[in-house]
Amino acid sequence: MGARRTDVLADILRPVLERRLKSDIRGDVRFDRFTRGRYATDASHYQIMPLGVVAPRTMEDAARAIEIAREEGVSVLPRGGGTSQCGQTVNASLVIDCSKYLNRILELDAENRRCVVEPGIVLDDLNRALKPHGLWFPVDISTASRATIGGMTGNNSCGARSLRYGNTRENVISVNALLADGRSATFGPASPSLTEFAATPQMHALASDLLALGAREADEIKARFPKVQRRVGGYNLDALLPGRNDLNLAHILIGSEGTLGFTTQVELKLAPLLGRRAVGACHFGRFYDAMDAAQHIVRLKPIGVELIDRTMIELAREIAIFRPTLDQFVRGEPDAILLVEFGEEDQDENLRRLKQLGELMGDLGYAWKNDGAKKGGVVEILDPALQAAITEVRTSGLNIMMSMKEEGKPVSFVEDCAVPLEHLAEYTSRLTAVFEKHGTRGTWYAHAGAGCLHVRPVLNLRLEKDVKAMRAIAEDAFAMVREYKGSHSGEHGDGIVRSEFHEFMFGERLVRAFEEVKTRFDPAGLFNPGKIVHAPKFDDRTNFRFKPDYRGEDIATKLDWSAWPGSGGGFQGAVEMCNNNGACRKIEGGVMCPSYRVTRDERDVTRGRANSLRLAVTGQLGPDALTSDDMLETMKLCVSCKACRRECPTGVDMARMKIEVLAARAARFGFSLRDRLIGWLPRYAPYAARLPWLMNARNVLPGAAWLSEQVAGLSARRSLPRWRADVFDDATGDSLPLKGGGRGSKFDQNETPTRHASRVDLPFSGGGEERVSGTERRQVVLFADTFNRYFERENLDDAIAVLTAAGYTVHVAQPDDGKKRPLCCGRTFLSVGAVDEARAEAERTLAALKPFIDKGVPVIGLEPSCILSFRDEVPALVKSEDVKTLARLALTFEEFLAREHKAGRLDLKLQPMKQRALVHGHCHQKSFEAFGPVQTVLKLVPGLSVEIIESSCCGMAGAFGYGSETIDVSLAMGELSLLPAVRKASDDAIIVADGTSCRHQIHDGTGRDAVHVARVLAGCLD
Ligand SMILES: Cc1cc2nc3c(=O)[nH]c(=O)nc-3n(C[C@H](O)[C@H](O)[C@H](O)COP(=O)(O)OP(=O)(O)OC[C@H]3O[C@@H](n4cnc5c(N)ncnc54)[C@H](O)[C@@H]3O)c2cc1C
Ligand code: SF4
Ligand code: SF4
Repeated sequence: MGARRTDVLADILRPVLERRLKSDIRGDVRFDRFTRGRYATDASHYQIMPLGVVAPRTMEDAARAIEIAREEGVSVLPRGGGTSQCGQTVNASLVIDCSKYLNRILELDAENRRCVVEPGIVLDDLNRALKPHGLWFPVDISTASRATIGGMTGNNSCGARSLRYGNTRENVISVNALLADGRSATFGPASPSLTEFAATPQMHALASDLLALGAREADEIKARFPKVQRRVGGYNLDALLPGRNDLNLAHILIGSEGTLGFTTQVELKLAPLLGRRAVGACHFGRFYDAMDAAQHIVRLKPIGVELIDRTMIELAREIAIFRPTLDQFVRGEPDAILLVEFGEEDQDENLRRLKQLGELMGDLGYAWKNDGAKKGGVVEILDPALQAAITEVRTSGLNIMMSMKEEGKPVSFVEDCAVPLEHLAEYTSRLTAVFEKHGTRGTWYAHAGAGCLHVRPVLNLRLEKDVKAMRAIAEDAFAMVREYKGSHSGEHGDGIVRSEFHEFMFGERLVRAFEEVKTRFDPAGLFNPGKIVHAPKFDDRTNFRFKPDYRGEDIATKLDWSAWPGSGGGFQGAVEMCNNNGACRKIEGGVMCPSYRVTRDERDVTRGRANSLRLAVTGQLGPDALTSDDMLETMKLCVSCKACRRECPTGVDMARMKIEVLAARAARFGFSLRDRLIGWLPRYAPYAARLPWLMNARNVLPGAAWLSEQVAGLSARRSLPRWRADVFDDATGDSLPLKGGGRGSKFDQNETPTRHASRVDLPFSGGGEERVSGTERRQVVLFADTFNRYFERENLDDAIAVLTAAGYTVHVAQPDDGKKRPLCCGRTFLSVGAVDEARAEAERTLAALKPFIDKGVPVIGLEPSCILSFRDEVPALVKSEDVKTLARLALTFEEFLAREHKAGRLDLKLQPMKQRALVHGHCHQKSFEAFGPVQTVLKLVPGLSVEIIESSCCGMAGAFGYGSETIDVSLAMGELSLLPAVRKASDDAIIVADGTSCRHQIHDGTGRDAVHVARVLAGCLD
């Protein structure tokens, strides 16, 4: 069985294989091109199409799938989170995805600090379950939120605290595996005489052969295996050396990258949770000195010594979520920082060592008062919250690097070489010279204490010359590593990247021994062939993601993608930003990606969507893939929450990409009735509002809801928003006495806008500030969105009341084209892909707001998704200076109030309210850092206790929750955390949610009414 069958052969095999799998196993069996494409990549630069994908529901199903593969003569690739960086998780095989269903804890023995798990369990999920028992699995890798124990075992993964805990190998007690001959076996601690296998002759024979191999090759192993802790390359032959009193046969499977068997269970050693810690951020004026200092620092026995270099600090400072953290611990402009962590049980001891660290830095000549290379010292970090925030920056190191938008990207191939600490400084400076020789550069980060530094030179793997440079750099780097007796594979495994170099590093004899191990376990090459042994050349471009014929298709796009390179005006470059690191597969924390949190399906995660798009726009999924039903299915559960825009480390903005897909599809097939009902709402709403009883009949007339489902696909299980007769009208119905213009007024350019002799500050920095004088009241303009206008006008009324009470003159933005139809941001049109209509709406609104924009008057909105579209989609629709200014002026109600409060200008008298407010943030608020102000503003109410619901998307997401085919997922999203939290809230708690859809979901799911912040504040007005 070869590593890669020809496509022709694969085409013949696939149908039979698919048929048999579908008939015999429970679980997902998918052989379509889109699914295979989604499993063709891991976090490396390789791409190999698998034959098909199975996500078995039970271990018996997995076993049966492997049996069928064997009978049909195809290979099997076990897969967890698919976050490997070396190409070990791609193959032309049948992929068995363990992460979807095979993810249970089978046994937990807290007293003896051990547990048994299925391979698909994610490390963070496991640790969450262990936490109440005061325990954790201490191999704390950066990808803990999505890496599985099966994958960690497969790669022998290493955490930041490996100085204390060792690698995965040191923390696994035993592994149960299905072997190539169909048998199941347990690999664990054993005596040298192997008496425990007396009853299982085949296992006894296997174990004996392995030990015989270890004995035969003992001298070679001792001579050629690097003596560094970070060595994960090859098979762990050192575990088979004679005379070991800690013989554990599981060690031969650990780090075997799915090539020897299929792991069914892993027994883990657990550790007590770490208590309080002390961290010292050692600042160095010169990178070389930081590397040199590592060998001295480890003598203080820290549990981790992690590096971040100048480039990383600068890149992280550019990222809004990281900047505040850096500001708290980075002093001046260091060239490198070593984060040294002490984690003994006794915090006094940690503090003592922290003090010693300061002294050590002093002994090494560092002082804050120095200039140049010796300027430095230790910033002490004792606050656990700041420590956690720094860990977040550190573990995002790679992703921070990958946020570069250009075609050249940091490429992983020499990235986790480990050398003995005494050579670290020299090694890093020589490697930097190698990069320079090849016209590139690298950014360094990671585990200085373990001598394992991550570095990725920037290369464009579409270019032959850069691929040649990659080989040259690899050969130079590995030669150096060999010279220092280091390890060329120190953390991420071998895969395709490093296996080719085993012979150079370990020598021919040991590579033949590796091959012998593989043959003894898997003579026919059933499991993940071509990894560790018999590997292809690492620079064979036919295995690359960017193959020699890789090209962007000539596609027409509707939005502005010019910040990225590639076809479709840069759309190609934007979708290529996904590097498969899998951060979107996290299940808790943040918002991304709500659909995956419900389905746990690779199709429904940002990564799966980005991969499908990349393959589609480069012609790898056949003609018209972008507008195909499969693509629609791929996008179906994306709720356009924009969480990925903020939380994806490389900023993949799937919500915006979805608009392109819907637009392309609409251009091909037109709009459905439901699209028209949803998208064109702002256009027909003025007429509909005249007949509210008729519009509301759908919710009350028997059979009407059913009919709406049949005809328009609007779920009968959902009520539609209630139309009302007293809609908000810009020009009439002033209920509040306003001075200086006010509601209903148009902004007269000739009129002096304010009578305050004060500055009208523009929101955020950046131009356009002007000094206005001659009025007593500040001016603001309210953008009344369609939803609040027609369905919940009291929010607008209350916002006006609050702003007026605070001393602002509130103008309501009105059309200036002579038509009565109110203004609209274009949001509903965008949600169905009607981009041209959205642009027309945006341009109309822009024209109407022009006088305000010219005067720098803040534009305030209540519905987050509407007002924030002026910062997000509208600038991608319309190119003009006015749009840029509007993007800066557009503020949510709370952003405006919080800003005024911070500037000391908010004069809002609020009555105390002795209540609890439970607040759910709208996804777009979170995505645009606009949720903090919600909390700030609510806290202005004396006595109000404000609590945040830790929620992802509410699940309603505009029209998503109404769809007959999406309502179940919509409800399930709500049930993840928001709805249970609301149900738990006491009756007198106020539920606060600024989003119209969020309020609807809360009402449908719990029967409780949530309110906008404007209503809470208005209720407290003096
Ligand atoms: C941004 C980033 C940061 C990273 N940081 C670290 C780090 O700090 N430390 C570290 O060690 N690694 C790190 N990695 C690499 C990677 O995340 C880890 O190796 C991780 O443990 C892989 O887990 P996974 O579930 O994604 O495995 P996969 O990639 O799905 O699989 C890994 C290997 O295990 C095999 N495998 C999976 N399941 C089974 C099974 N049931 N039976 C047999 N074989 C199986 C696969 O075939 C494959 O060869 C990082 C990767 C990225 C992208
Ligand atoms: S979409 Fe973003 S978070 Fe998800 S895998 Fe791709 S780069 Fe990572
Ligand atoms: S917009 Fe939201 S649902 Fe869509 S891919 Fe991004 S995180 Fe997931």
